[in-house]
Parts: sequence; structure tokens; C-alpha cells
Amino acid sequence: MGKKNNRKRTPSNLSKWQKPRPASGRDISRILDPTPRIESAADGDWFVAYIASVNALKTYKCPGCHRQIKPGVAHLVAWQDDHMFGRERAIEERRHWHQKCWQTRRPY
Ligand SMILES: [Zn+2]
Repeated sequence: MGKKNNRKRTPSNLSKWQKPRPASGRDISRILDPTPRIESAADGDWFVAYIASVNALKTYKCPGCHRQIKPGVAHLVAWQDDHMFGRERAIEERRHWHQKCWQTRRPY
């Protein structure tokens, strides 16, 4: 398990958003590419990484519309930096979104 020391900012606030879920043992390093950017929202700062259609190889469920994101569909991945269990756990719990659903989502 490679730990990358690319911390750019320190968590400043804890949000109430988190819900503990079982961590998966998948290798995340290939998926988190290209470099994510930070988007601020009402429920905190989110890391957002865009997945090109060529890199979309699996089917995901979009938390915005609860429909599937099919392989070959460009979408994005979002996770929070200030996860109570730390950054690695936050990345484990990242969500795949349709781009449109992410842009129109309502923070909760
Ligand atoms: Zn969606």
C-alpha cells in the first residue's frame, strides 16, 4: 500500500455528512487520475476528479439520480477531505456521479 505524501491542505472543519461504511480493498491509485481539484460546497470542501470515458470501465450507481453510470460514460468522482476517519477512508468512500447530477446536487 503506497502512501502518497501530497497533502496540500489541512482539514479545518468536520462535517456531519459522513456515514461509516465497510472499506473495500481495491487499489484506488489508478482511479484517482487525473489530479482532482477542490470544490467548495455548503457541506464542505470536496475533491472532484473527472473520469474520461475511456477510463470508465465499470458500472456505478449515481447517488444523485440513483441510476447507473455505464462503462464508457464520462463522469466524476467526489469525496471529502475532512473525513472523520482520515483521507484514505474518505477516498475509499468516494462516490461516482453523473456530471450533471453533481452540478445540480443539493448538499445534505
Ligand atoms: Zn445521476
